[in-house]
Amino acid sequence: MIPISEIFYSIQGEGKFVGCPSVFVRVGGCNMRCFGFGKEGCDSYYAVDKKFKSEWKLMKIDEIKKEISKYLKFNPHLVITGGEPMLYYKKLYPLLEWFENPITIETNTTVDIDFEKFSLYKKVIFAMSVKLSNSKEPKEKRIKKNVIKKYAKNKESFFKFVIDKDLNDEIQEIVKGFDNQIYCMPLGATKEELEKNAPFVFEFCLKHGYCYSDRIHIRLFGKKKGV
Ligand code: SF4
Repeated sequence: MIPISEIFYSIQGEGKFVGCPSVFVRVGGCNMRCFGFGKEGCDSYYAVDKKFKSEWKLMKIDEIKKEISKYLKFNPHLVITGGEPMLYYKKLYPLLEWFENPITIETNTTVDIDFEKFSLYKKVIFAMSVKLSNSKEPKEKRIKKNVIKKYAKNKESFFKFVIDKDLNDEIQEIVKGFDNQIYCMPLGATKEELEKNAPFVFEFCLKHGYCYSDRIHIRLFGKKKGV
C-alpha cells in the first residue's frame, strides 16, 4: 500500500515537459519540510505535513493503475510527484512496468535507490529538484552528490531549482560534473509571490544560460489542489 495524496489529470505546468497532458500521482510523505518556502513549508504541504495524513489514501498498486487508466484515452505522460516519491520506489515499481508513455518523477534526489535491481528506473526522466539553502534544510541533508550521480545518468533527466535570489554558487556546486539541463523556476506558492520573483529568475537564467521554467498552474489556479 502506498499513501496517495491525490491522483488527477492536468497539464504539466513546470519543467521540461511544460504543456504536456499528464496524469499526476502525488504520494504523501517527504523526508524534508522546506520551511524556507513558506510558513507551511513547500507548496505541496498537504502531501508533506503529517497533520494531513488522514487525507492520504492508502492505495494498492492496482487501485492506482485503475485511477490512471481513466485518463489513458488522452495519451498522457505520467508524473509521479509528492512529497518524495522515491521513499516508495520499490512499491511504485509495477507502475514503471505497466505504463507505456514517458514517465517523469519529481524528486529531491536524496533517496539512494538500487538502479541495478530496479532497472526500469534507468529509463525514467527525473526532475531533480535538489534543494538550495532557501529551503532552510541543512546542507548535508539536501545535497547527496553520490545519489545525484546515479539519478543523473539518464541524460534526459534535468535539474530543477527553485530560486528567489542569486544562488548561482550553490547551483554550480551541485551541477559540477554533470551535463544535464538546468531549469530554474521562481519561488512562489501564490500568484503574487510568483509574479514578484519571476522577472529576476528570467534575467538570472539569461545571464547563466539556464532554462527558465514558469509555474503555469500557480498563475492560473494559485494554491488550488488537483490542477
Ligand atoms: S523536498 Fe519537495 S516535497 Fe519535500 S518538503 Fe521540500 S519542496 Fe516539499
